[in-house]
Amino acid sequence: MKTLSGWIFDLDGTLTKPTHDFDFIRECLAVPAGELILEYSQSLPIEESKPFLKKLSKLEQSVIKNTQIAEGANSLIKFLHSQSYEIGILTRNTKDNAIQTLTHIDLHKFFRPEFIIGRDEQKPKPSPEGISYLLGKWDKKLNNAVIIGDYRLDLEAGRNAGISTILIGQATDEDTEKLADYQFSNLSKLKSSLESHLLF
Ligand SMILES: [Mg+2]
Repeated sequence: MKTLSGWIFDLDGTLTKPTHDFDFIRECLAVPAGELILEYSQSLPIEESKPFLKKLSKLEQSVIKNTQIAEGANSLIKFLHSQSYEIGILTRNTKDNAIQTLTHIDLHKFFRPEFIIGRDEQKPKPSPEGISYLLGKWDKKLNNAVIIGDYRLDLEAGRNAGISTILIGQATDEDTEKLADYQFSNLSKLKSSLESHLLF
């Protein structure tokens, strides 16, 4: 049985209840259908991408005050912390917004700021760079680490880095399901599995 001692979390929709209306954000920013928001910004000339990202960050920031913690998040994070496991955040949001969100849902005390990686610190998911960076900092091997997320890009990043993947919630399609090594309907179910040693 392997010990997973390095835990990398997606933030929005994983540790929080989903609050981002991505369709609304895409509409506000005129992102063409089928394109990912950050990837679209990278395709713009610099004089357009700068204000685009500023506007995106403001839209993301505007929902923080209404954000609620996800079911089971507090008790899972507390549990991992009590086991002295390493925990970090890898988000396509900004680091600043992530810290504000963690503060709002009262989980900030469990996360060291240097282990909160936003889109400006490392290349965003599905790139494996953020994961490799954290594992380097933690001195962890690939088979001791896992990424937990609610979206395909979280799992793709995990696969690209070569670590285990856990999907929280329902897969939106079959391809996403295939990227998940484990799947739980919520974080409470994941914690129960950990405590009863059914997993890992
Ligand atoms: Mg998410």
